Parts: sequence; C-alpha cells; structure tokens
Amino acid sequence: MFGAVVVGIGTAGWVRIRDMLAPLPGSPAEKLNVRAFISRRKLDSQQGVSQVTAEEAVSREDIQVAFICTENVLHEENIRTFLQAGKHVCVEYPMTMNYKAALELWNLAQEKGVILHEEHIELLTEDYKELKREVEGKLLQEGTLHFTGGALKPGFGFPAFSGIARLTWLVELFGELSVTAATMEEDSGNNYCKMTAKLLTSDERPLVWIEERGPGLPRAKNINFQFDSCTLTEVPPAPRGAVGIFMQDLIHFSAKLAGQVSPGELHREKIRILHCLRLAGNIQQLCKR
Ligand code: NAD
Repeated sequence: MFGAVVVGIGTAGWVRIRDMLAPLPGSPAEKLNVRAFISRRKLDSQQGVSQVTAEEAVSREDIQVAFICTENVLHEENIRTFLQAGKHVCVEYPMTMNYKAALELWNLAQEKGVILHEEHIELLTEDYKELKREVEGKLLQEGTLHFTGGALKPGFGFPAFSGIARLTWLVELFGELSVTAATMEEDSGNNYCKMTAKLLTSDERPLVWIEERGPGLPRAKNINFQFDSCTLTEVPPAPRGAVGIFMQDLIHFSAKLAGQVSPGELHREKIRILHCLRLAGNIQQLCKR
C-alpha cells in the first residue's frame, strides 16, 4: 500500500480524495490510501480526511506519495519539496511554468528513484479517443484548434502553460511540432486574453493554436483539420466512458507505482511532456517580443 497526501483542496484536490476513497475495484488504484491533505487555509476534515502541515507530511513514513493540486505557479516548489523527501509525485498539468524547471525535477525524481507523473486527463476523454481514431492514417494538410473558455483565476499562468492540454492534443495527434510565430492580445481590465500560436508539423504542415479566455466565453474546442481525403470541423461527440477521467489517471499513476508500466512507455511520456513544455516556453518568448 502507498499512503498519500493531497496538496491543495480545490476542484482537482477534492476529486483526488474522492477517487482514492473509492478506487475502481480490481485496479492498482486500490493500492493508494489517502492519509491527509495540506492546505493554506485551516480547514475541517475533508471527506473524513484530516489536515496536516507540509513539514509533517514530508517526514511521515506512512506517506509515500503526494498529489499536487494547487494553482499552477505553485507546482514547481511543491513537487521539489516532496521529491527531495523521496516521495512519489503526481502533479496536475502543467507540471511547471517553464521547461528548465521540469527537466530538473525529472532528474531529481530519477536520482531519488521515485515516480514523477503529470496528469493529462484530456487524453483520456472519450471525445479525444474518438478524434484520435478519426485522425489515424490521414495526412494533415493544415489545421486550427481554437479553444475558448472563461477567465482564469490568478496563479494559473501564461496561456501556453495553463492551456497545455490543447497543445498536448495537437502533439499526440500530429507528432512533434515547432513554433514559427506567436502573438498575444490582452485586455487585463476585462480579464480577456487571446493567444495565437503558429506551429509546424515535422513535415512542415501548418497548425494554428488559439487559446482565448474571457468572462462569459463558452468552454469549447473548435477544430478545423484539413486532410488529404476530408476535413474535420468538429470534435466527434462520444458518450462518456464508464470510468471517470481522473480515475483513469489515478489508475495509470498507481500502475507506475506498482511497476506495471514499461520503461519505454514511461520514457515516451516524459519526452512528450518535456516537448510540450518547451513549446509552451517558446510560444511565451515569441509573445513577449
Ligand atoms: P481550484 O481553483 O479549484 O483550486 C486551486 C487552488 O486554490 C487549490 O490549491 C485550492 O486549495 C485553492 N483554493 C480553492 N478554493 C479556495 C478558497 N475558497 N480559498 C482559498 N484557496 C482556495 O483549481 P483546480 O481546478 O482544482 O486546479 C488545480 C490544478 O489542477 C491546476 O494545476 C489545474 O491546471 C489542474 N487541473 C484541473 C482540472 C479540473 O478539472 N479542475 C483538470 C486538469 C488539471
């Protein structure tokens, strides 16, 4: 069994506790036992789980795993604290707000012999799985992914990082990308921003990624992917899966803890995560110019 602590009791932290209290029967997630949570607020027990300080959590021998569910800007510091204490870490995406820090943290995890896992629930949705099936075997000519959503709360960072789920979709669908241009329109008084990044696939096919957020904008992914044989203009609708996406991620993470994920798969995931963080950093640099 692995004892776990959840850091940050927002939407994601609450779901992590819920899922560890009722893991999918027969799955490796049954090996996780939530023992405590950490919050900057003084909170009553959450779903029957009690609060501890970070100092207590790092020193407790019955806690071997930390779930980092805070705002994005605090991920790096929290991950480092727990890795240094020799604990396995599951962090909600994005791992960090820059590529270099992520690389350092992977090295630290390796040095300590522990698992560092970044949650990517967007790859586990039925919509995505259906889209992946549709795209398979087709040759992309050009494409656009335009995401819209409500304004982000403070601490979620630059849109290329807070929206890394969309970038991860593009990389998983079309392979490694490069950035050729990026711009940012901002109206901070109205909490509005629109980032436009121009990308190229390895065979020089253009992709545009737009991340647009503002109060009242509907949460939606608009796509236009032109292939040699057809054009896809919407994400194919798919019924919800039987197992929730956070639960699927928990199962994947706990399979890693149990040594059930091959080194090849772990390596592929690490390469993809670092590639996306590097691209996000490049986009941010280009927007600053
Ligand atoms: P959230 O805004 O609900 O919580 C973020 C942080 O704010 C947490 O540390 C929480 O402790 C704190 N917080 C929440 N309510 C508070 C309050 N009333 N007073 C003071 N502090 C409070 O954000 P979230 O959706 O849980 O996101 C956390 C992380 O999970 C982020 O890195 C995000 O990118 C990632 N994530 C979230 C989802 C999701 O569906 N919510 C999906 C994928 C990844």
